[in-house]
Amino acid sequence: MKSTESSNTVSSRMGTKASIICKCGFECPIWTSKKPNSKGRSFFGCPLYKDKDKYCGFFQWCNEDSDQGIKSSHDLNTRTELESMKVALLEAKIGELEAVKKMELGEVNFQLKMKTKHIELLEFQLACFKFFIFLLVCGFVIILNR
Ligand SMILES: [Zn+2]
Repeated sequence: MKSTESSNTVSSRMGTKASIICKCGFECPIWTSKKPNSKGRSFFGCPLYKDKDKYCGFFQWCNEDSDQGIKSSHDLNTRTELESMKVALLEAKIGELEAVKKMELGEVNFQLKMKTKHIELLEFQLACFKFFIFLLVCGFVIILNR
């Protein structure tokens, strides 16, 4: 018994368009917000909304299941998705740049290492050469002293 009662209530609510009555007793029209933090969102407001003196102050956001609510929330989702996509793209770009920087840094480090090795080799060759000259001089000295 109770379940049919509740299902009847639901179907009747779904069937007729919900009308919101403000404190003055008027049926509230749907307005679209122009405030930057809720731009494009629909809300029920007193019909005297624009007449600040008579306005009862009634205000209620439209349910998300109303067409306009879905549209604006969908727009918002799309925008959020777009923003997050942009962020992801930028992050990817930053990652790419960092990789390039790391690669370049690695390349520079590698070249520096190679140069250091080359200088070490040259120093070794110079030492060998000096030793060779020393041996040569020694040989001459020995020959001359004979
Ligand atoms: Zn009102």
